[in-house]
Amino acid sequence: MDMKYWAPTRVLSGTGCLMSYRSELVPLGKKALIVTGSSSAKANGSLADAVAALEANGQKWALYDRVPANPGAACAYEGAALARSEGCDFVLAIGGGSPMDAAKVMALLAKKDIPEADLFSGAYGEAALPIVCVPTTAGTGSEATQYAIITNDAAETKSGIATPLFFPRLALLDAKYLAHVPRRTMVNTVIDSLSHSMEGMLSCRANEITDALAARALAMVAECLGPLAENSLTDAMRERLLLASAMGGMVIANTGTTALHAMGYSLTYFHGIDHGRANGLLIVAYLGFVRGSRPALVQRILSALGMGDLATLAWTLERLLGEKERIDASEFAKYADKAAASKNIANCAVPPGRDEILAMFAESFSPRRFGGDAALSRHAVIEYVRLEDYIPAAHFRTILPKLRDVPPGVTEIPVELELSPKFSSKVDVPVTWDGKVYGFVHDNDRLKAVFTGKMAKAYESRRVFVNDWGDDFLVTLENGARDCEATFLVTADEVRALFENCRVLRDDGTI
Ligand code: NAP
Ligand code: ZN
Repeated sequence: MDMKYWAPTRVLSGTGCLMSYRSELVPLGKKALIVTGSSSAKANGSLADAVAALEANGQKWALYDRVPANPGAACAYEGAALARSEGCDFVLAIGGGSPMDAAKVMALLAKKDIPEADLFSGAYGEAALPIVCVPTTAGTGSEATQYAIITNDAAETKSGIATPLFFPRLALLDAKYLAHVPRRTMVNTVIDSLSHSMEGMLSCRANEITDALAARALAMVAECLGPLAENSLTDAMRERLLLASAMGGMVIANTGTTALHAMGYSLTYFHGIDHGRANGLLIVAYLGFVRGSRPALVQRILSALGMGDLATLAWTLERLLGEKERIDASEFAKYADKAAASKNIANCAVPPGRDEILAMFAESFSPRRFGGDAALSRHAVIEYVRLEDYIPAAHFRTILPKLRDVPPGVTEIPVELELSPKFSSKVDVPVTWDGKVYGFVHDNDRLKAVFTGKMAKAYESRRVFVNDWGDDFLVTLENGARDCEATFLVTADEVRALFENCRVLRDDGTI
């Protein structure tokens, strides 16, 4: 069999691994350039741990802490100049993909002065400073790839610089730094990792090794998607997500990314949509396109995720991503031209043409009811019910979002309402930063009747989700096994009436 696989990065993981494996840093030199974003590395303890490890080794360090999200060339040149003036021997990047990618380019530019016009030319010389990565998001896998993705204003997109010099010598994975990643960042970055593993399987460069890594990484991520949506990830889950992200990196290091990433770059460049979210908004349309000619390929991805059909994936992603951005369809032609011209198309097992890419953009942002088709195919028919039958205003009260504290008991059923910014601005109830209202229903026989049988045993896990679904709201009753028990539609007017007539607990304790 004709195949290639290469993953030269030494991956070390575990709580406290920066300190416990600090001897690994010694051969890299006397002085490190630590590269971070502006604040997270200071807040999550990773910067302090890196400094402590270096100092325990007797190594010196200098800090560049100004990498922005989606870095351009400017910060890479600035950091490289610092590495030179400080006489740094290696680069230690801490953070998400942005600091890791910027640090890679700094490592290169510190050794060779490449003019900005040639930065994407492919001529990178023979040397870069050794690179160590400490990822603090579970998304890009940059700690295990030879890529740096840099905003390229001349081409109005994000462009990849790929050179074996960028494979980090060492990736140190400590999930404790991810403990306080905001839900939105966690969702976006995990979807990035999901897309890497999927795209690895959809690449014409896939092989047995990358497929095995990708399928396992997909399964590891899939286990965490429910808790991710509910913002209830455990330490063990964050650890699994961090490892799955590195595995996704090993996959794309060998397969490259596909049309999906190429399409996503325009959403990031022109609309500032986070990288992982940009991919997530397009995944279902892309898989639908591939399914047209290679259904088995898509089925393998769904099986790895433990999902029966594409509609289930659509449903899951919609729950994670919330309301989609509205983008004028007239913009898609430019994005389709850019994606069709990108190098990524050559990696695709099923290469889309320009018009097919255009159709995928249109499908992904069509104004059809949010989740409509996906929901319909999963549940055959979604019926409208009267909200009052399940959540009567007189039996519903909100709880303080910071407590999310539902009184224990078999008759209280927690309710989580997810509101779009447009809707939440119109209601006079405490809404969390991510658009949620928490509450509970008590003593409603109809609801209790739904939650019978196994529900009775796991009553503390029952939950009613009410999600803003465009014109209407989708009500999902979930059971103790986190399976969906029933799904209905209700009108937005009924949700408004519920808020107007229920008991609302306010921050100052008044009702
Ligand atoms: P990011 O841009 O590195 O970080 C996003 C945000 O998350 C920043 O505000 C950051 O704050 C914050 N953050 C990072 N770690 C945190 C933590 N532990 N706790 C709280 N907040 C934290 O996001 P990313 O998604 O990881 O990286 C995206 C970039 O990677 C894009 O440029 C993308 O194109 C690239 N990428 C590269 C590869 C590759 O193989 N090289 C693959 C895919 C994507 P601070 O700024 O304060 O740190
Ligand atoms: Zn990516």
